[in-house]
Amino acid sequence: MQQYDVVIIGGGASGLMCAAAAGYRGRSVLLLEHTRKIGRKILMSGGGRCNFTNIHNGPSNFLSDNPHFCKSALSRYPAAAFIELVERHGIDFHEKTLGQLFCNESSKEILQMLLTECEWAGVEMRTESAVTEIAARDGGYHLVTPQGDVQCQSLVIATGGLSIPNGGATGFAFDVARQFGLEMTDTRAALVPFTLQPADLEVFKPLSGASHNVVASIGPTQFKEALLFTHRGLSGPAILQISSYWTPGDNVSIDLFPELDLYEWLKQQRDERPKAEVSNVISQQMTKSIAHTFCDHWGIKGTMADQGNKALQAIADQFHNWIIKPSGTEGYRTAEVTIGGIITDEISSKTMEAKKAPGLYFIGECLDVTGHLGGHNFQWAWASGVAAGQVV
Ligand SMILES: Cc1cc2nc3c(=O)[nH]c(=O)nc-3n(C[C@H](O)[C@H](O)[C@H](O)COP(=O)(O)OP(=O)(O)OC[C@H]3O[C@@H](n4cnc5c(N)ncnc54)[C@H](O)[C@@H]3O)c2cc1C
Repeated sequence: MQQYDVVIIGGGASGLMCAAAAGYRGRSVLLLEHTRKIGRKILMSGGGRCNFTNIHNGPSNFLSDNPHFCKSALSRYPAAAFIELVERHGIDFHEKTLGQLFCNESSKEILQMLLTECEWAGVEMRTESAVTEIAARDGGYHLVTPQGDVQCQSLVIATGGLSIPNGGATGFAFDVARQFGLEMTDTRAALVPFTLQPADLEVFKPLSGASHNVVASIGPTQFKEALLFTHRGLSGPAILQISSYWTPGDNVSIDLFPELDLYEWLKQQRDERPKAEVSNVISQQMTKSIAHTFCDHWGIKGTMADQGNKALQAIADQFHNWIIKPSGTEGYRTAEVTIGGIITDEISSKTMEAKKAPGLYFIGECLDVTGHLGGHNFQWAWASGVAAGQVV
């Protein structure tokens, strides 16, 4: 029988961080990953440059049934702590926008940094190691793995959520949670592109690849970032962000001119360019193809001189409040995260230990803590990983 103080299942962001923290405390640590490759999502993150944290990270950047749950771990391991680690490893990075920090070179550097930390901390790692059985035994946990049976005092589940099944995502954490009687919220894909109803898709598909800065909102929640038209519907940061607040049937309101009082500007343009076509005038403020598509779609035609104040107001209202009813999302296939998960009431916010199962810990995305786009999800993975790593 192989004996370890700590076994961590899941070789992703939170698992690696937890493994290093526990290893540095002198614990014998075994990390098990079921795919052939450790840290795949880290490699694919941030368009290959890993948006590893956000300097503005805080509890308000997370969705959870209990918004207070994430506070303890985030305050004990804030963005500054991870930045310090990145700097210590000599990785160059930059702020792209809104506090989002990216590697200058490649996500590989963040993964290499974590692997190096694990090596220094004496962590043993096994890939292609899918655990087939877990049982509470002898005051700890007994695991059946392809490389033989393993007994540990502390078992950490760090297998993430359901997004990107092709990259190794499984519902393993949720199965283990159910096995030990822990409750779950419903889960759904989040930070995910919208698909459009067939009629809307026909109109907007030709814009595929075009983007425009907007404010996307559902009720009081709004995000001011870029919207990207795709061949299936809508994407881009504004859409990904608002998708986390969307449930089927909801409308999404999009202000296509968040920084402009379009009505006042159109009145001014009417004085200056009375003979210009409305669509050409609007093309001064957005890509021509986008302006013309919306004008055609809404039946806006004629010259500026043809438009009375009422007509200009109606045009402005349409651009400031484009209402779409997505047909759905692209689902877990392309979602960056899973919203929902293990109910946080089941878990200690200080240690990530399951209250009903001493010695069993859950960290990272499998918990009902979901970050906004922009480095917040990794910050949660680092912080929850360290919180458990300091006590297991
Ligand atoms: C395309 C993409 C880009 C992203 N970009 C960013 C970004 O730039 N910034 C950001 O903050 N967040 C980003 N995210 C989100 C971020 O990757 C996740 O929130 C984060 O990785 C979650 O960490 P985790 O440790 O909980 O899970 P993961 O990092 O997903 O790790 C889970 C690991 O467990 C393994 N596993 C699964 N099931 C089993 C099993 N049964 N047995 C053993 N191992 C198992 C998986 O293969 C995986 O290696 C991105 C996500 C995607 C999909």
